[in-house]
Amino acid sequence: SLFSNLNLPAAALTNLAQMGYEQMTPIQQQSLPLVLSGRDLIAQAQTGSGKTAAFGIGMLETLNPRLFAVQGLVLCPTRELAGQVAGELRKLARYLDNIKIITLCGGQPIGPQIGSLEHGAHIVVGTPGRLRDHLRKETLKLDRLSMLVLDEADRMLDMGFEEDIRFIIGATPAKRQTLLFSATYPEQIESISAAYQYDPVRVSI
Ligand code: AMP
Repeated sequence: SLFSNLNLPAAALTNLAQMGYEQMTPIQQQSLPLVLSGRDLIAQAQTGSGKTAAFGIGMLETLNPRLFAVQGLVLCPTRELAGQVAGELRKLARYLDNIKIITLCGGQPIGPQIGSLEHGAHIVVGTPGRLRDHLRKETLKLDRLSMLVLDEADRMLDMGFEEDIRFIIGATPAKRQTLLFSATYPEQIESISAAYQYDPVRVSI
């Protein structure tokens, strides 16, 4: 099915067409209508499935460009994935003016990250350890967050990020949309979902 069947603004559809996206991938077909309707989601999807656009298109529709506060947060297991996700979100956001998307990852100097945060960002993509550092320093505030994405959640748990993830989610408003993407569903994933998602829809491809 086509992106044009979704109720998206004309400018968003034009941008998708310019990116060469016309047909939705299976994960996008199953997820996007739910994401756009505000539901929480627990989705089984691998890299390469188009999962970034499956949450990214919804995230861009949800946020208010005139509000200079972090409204979307994507947690990733690695700096490489965070970079790819931010790159894809920036392309998807080209039809919107002045949307700022930043990455906050470990292994990078923290000073420039603090500078970027001071200038105001709408979307943050990052790794759990560094995001927790920023929350502790109060250089990152998540009180206006509306959408949280846990990308490759099983990998993040395998890497020992569970406590950081719980700390970060604890700093977000209770009223938010939470999307969880994972290739596998070990017990730890079920417990994170049970603790932090509201009536999630399960999607698998
Ligand atoms: P992802 O799984 O999000 O890493 O996406 C994998 C690749 O598929 C990326 O290079 C995307 O740019 C591309 N892609 C995602 N959705 C579509 C689509 N609907 N049509 C064509 N390419 C897509």
